[in-house]
Amino acid sequence: MIRPPGHAMTSEKRKRPRGRKWREKRRKAIDRAGRRCERCGAAGKLQVHHKTPLCLGGAALNLGNLEALCPDCHSKAHLNCAHDGVIQ
Ligand SMILES: [Zn+2]
Repeated sequence: MIRPPGHAMTSEKRKRPRGRKWREKRRKAIDRAGRRCERCGAAGKLQVHHKTPLCLGGAALNLGNLEALCPDCHSKAHLNCAHDGVIQ
């Protein structure tokens, strides 16, 4: 059997667009927080954190699952998250 060279599978990385709905929810979460980090109160650039990670079945677009955090708190939030395990 001859394998044609350079015929590797072209795996296109599909970037999942967050979409308009996500942007809306994001903004709502940040507005709800008064445009401050919900943990330390820092103003400025905020990120929206999923309290229950999506990989554990958290709702992506449910405001109840969203938290507005500064980048600091956001990365801390992910320190304790067990993305690869089951939270008991
Ligand atoms: Zn913070």
